[in-house]
Amino acid sequence: MLIYIIPTYECGLNCKSCYSQKYKEIYSECLTWEMFISIYNRFEGKLNRVAFIGGEAIKWKFINEAILFLSNKGIKVSVFTNGMDISRTMPDHVIINANNLLTEFHSDLMINSIEQYKVNRVKVTLRFNIDKSFEKYIGNAIVVSKKYADFVSLSPLFPVKYSEKKVGSNLFMLAQGLIDNKITSRVSRAVPLCIFTENQRIYLEKNCNMRGVCSLPTNSIVVNPDGVSVQPCVELSIIKKLDSLINKSIKEEYRCEIQTLKNEISCECAECAFYKGRKCFGGCLAYK
Ligand code: SF4
Ligand code: SF4
Repeated sequence: MLIYIIPTYECGLNCKSCYSQKYKEIYSECLTWEMFISIYNRFEGKLNRVAFIGGEAIKWKFINEAILFLSNKGIKVSVFTNGMDISRTMPDHVIINANNLLTEFHSDLMINSIEQYKVNRVKVTLRFNIDKSFEKYIGNAIVVSKKYADFVSLSPLFPVKYSEKKVGSNLFMLAQGLIDNKITSRVSRAVPLCIFTENQRIYLEKNCNMRGVCSLPTNSIVVNPDGVSVQPCVELSIIKKLDSLINKSIKEEYRCEIQTLKNEISCECAECAFYKGRKCFGGCLAYK
């Protein structure tokens, strides 16, 4: 089982469309060590992967101890990070928000972090969030991915306007360049399929596992910094208390709400063949 832990919503940057800004005030305190251990105890025996997300998880004062603690228990640890800083203990995998790598403001610091992760044999995923104006960065995104990435994760920068073909073509061009260079690349979120031409869509479905349907509900969960409030995905704030999951699986607990969201339909989708064929429910549920 995989759980995502958000130890803090604090972050030194202010990236476009980042969800963490809106949660910072609700969860103003960081996760305590006691709550971290209580989350671990709650899932002990079922857990084989933990991913720390944020905010900026590296800013959490117990991140080094937590990585060490979990690694000593044989649990694989991933950290989602802005790449501006590096932990002292090494996780198995880092997922770096790589848009900032393409601008001169932060790239030196980030490259330094990535090089340290590589020296320590940490798997590196670069994540690109793609908007209408991304075309000018495509060449550089391929160059840095060739040099540093074990994997690349791609997503439109949400919210994305349905039928916004420019976003689709930027995502497609980057994906094609990465695949031509034999870099394993995946579209990581449900995407409105109408932002692509038919050929682009077929290519991305085949080569990057792209889907129009959100994979929720799953049996993974996101735990907030208070250590007790949980949600099904970091983008989707359907809050429950960890204790409510004692007698039910996570999937079971969220099934109805997620299905209701999938069935909610906007006028753009009403006549769409993808919607009728249940191949697309409007992309990422948090933004449809
Ligand atoms: S279901 Fe909606 S978002 Fe998906 S392809 Fe059709 S119109 Fe676009
Ligand atoms: S709601 Fe969006 S981000 Fe969350 S799992 Fe679904 S597609 Fe992914």
